[in-house]
Amino acid sequence: MAAQAQTDTATDYDVFIIGGGINGCGIARDAQGRGYRVAVAEMKDLGSGTSSWSTKLIHGGLRYLEHYEFRLVREALKERETLWAMAPHIIWPMRFVLPYHKDMRPAWLIRLGLFLYDYIGGRKKLPATKTLDLNVDLAGKSLDPKFDKAFEYSDCWVNDARLVLLNAQDAAKLGADVMVRTKVVAAERIGDRWSVTVQDVNSGATRTVSANMIVNAAGPWVDEVLATSMGRNTKNVLMVQGSHIVVAQKFEHDRAYFFQNGDGRIFFGIPYEENLTLIGTTDQDYDGDPSDVCISDAEIDYLCEGASAYFREPVKREDIVWTYSGVRPLYDDGASKAQEATRDYVLKRDDADGAALVNIFGGKITTYRKLAESMLEEIEDILGKRGARWTEGATLPGGDFPTDGFEAKVAELRSKYAFLDDELARRLVRLYGMAAFALMGDATDQADMGHHFGSDLYEREVRYQMDHEWSQTAEDVLWRRTKRGLRLSADQAKALDDWMSDALKAAA
Ligand code: FAD
Repeated sequence: MAAQAQTDTATDYDVFIIGGGINGCGIARDAQGRGYRVAVAEMKDLGSGTSSWSTKLIHGGLRYLEHYEFRLVREALKERETLWAMAPHIIWPMRFVLPYHKDMRPAWLIRLGLFLYDYIGGRKKLPATKTLDLNVDLAGKSLDPKFDKAFEYSDCWVNDARLVLLNAQDAAKLGADVMVRTKVVAAERIGDRWSVTVQDVNSGATRTVSANMIVNAAGPWVDEVLATSMGRNTKNVLMVQGSHIVVAQKFEHDRAYFFQNGDGRIFFGIPYEENLTLIGTTDQDYDGDPSDVCISDAEIDYLCEGASAYFREPVKREDIVWTYSGVRPLYDDGASKAQEATRDYVLKRDDADGAALVNIFGGKITTYRKLAESMLEEIEDILGKRGARWTEGATLPGGDFPTDGFEAKVAELRSKYAFLDDELARRLVRLYGMAAFALMGDATDQADMGHHFGSDLYEREVRYQMDHEWSQTAEDVLWRRTKRGLRLSADQAKALDDWMSDALKAAA
């Protein structure tokens, strides 16, 4: 279809956000909630950039202590319990087992790091560090018997893709315009305002809106947006690739492992999606298109060898059921090595030539809410204050139940919908929290779940996602809103994609 330009005079925004990753959606929610008129444009699916390819930890980052990043670690540690309470369906505590390795960091250094970890971050509910005897603890059973001692500490796990989605949902509920598959193709300063041209990626149609200021939250694409939409060729982002492998379950407990490698790096072995183990990540410089990033042979070897040095049974290439890779958009602070670049976020304001632009570099999923608060300080400075801080303690959609209330919600869902089996009820509460009840709606028996797409995925859930979660393709459903992609065959995924495409056409 030929692109058609049109000016949409109705859409005058205070803040126009480029990028529907965790930072863009977190800022949209906070800003709209304080009374600004906000739009967020995402060129693909929400969370389809770096934000769904993380290690999925809400963590202080034990390793960053070695780089003296105390501000970041302290802020991140504090966020663990704040975020857990905001979304207990998609965030929960996890214990990490760090086997003591005599050829790596000395025990006194690990103890010191964990002592700081326990005490600088205002920990209230998460249990403290302890020492384990791996000869008797279940955590030792799956490890090489040469490891007989370990340290165990707390962090949290997050469903990263859904955290993005919940922020977008809440922003939209508050009145923000959330535009998916909408690419910003040009942005021009006209006096003290921005004229922003966006393109509907599905149809090719373009339209122009205006805004008082722009937030560039395009993650690894920040420099590309500056170059292609605003004609600025600068290099601010250090792109660092990180990859993960997923293998059949390596251990039978719900704790994760923190492993040290001979090169000074660390990586994790984490229980994943019922009966799998997630292993990662790597750290290597990247200079391609962030959309094309994929795991290299060298990274596969690195992770297999690293994990095999710890597990009793080696991790082999043929054990791998899935891999994924993402690009960290770190601030280029001149550090020579990928793993030494700061993980802290940097906000850079540019308003010398008129209307303000604020670019975001770096950051962590863990600190997205604090990053949004820092961005709101910039927004208030530029546009004037409209409302107070409000997101700490404000639950995300579906998260309005107690942090220890998961089992009770599963039981409640099963008692209301007796035909649901335990596994599916758990999956629904994990993904949707209280919204699982809205998803199930007036269903009274199995037939009301509708068409079966494979595994435990039914039409009712897919339709809910299409109506309430911006899902448009099988990939959105199978690899971001859920991870059912691990359970459906390629033919089943194709059939789902066809079905969704027909359903979208029918609704148009
Ligand atoms: P993104 O998620 O990349 O979002 C930017 C969005 O902008 C993209 O969706 C993109 O499609 C969109 N976009 C780009 N150009 C345009 C345009 N022209 N128009 C419209 N939209 C556009 N953090 C943690 O806290 N815990 C972890 O365990 C963790 N592990 C990690 C592991 C790896 C391997 C990696 C790579 C990162 C990890 N991180 C972790 C860091 C975290 O994932 C990132 O800092 C965070 O996701 C960055 O979010 P973002 O919103 O800035 O970028």
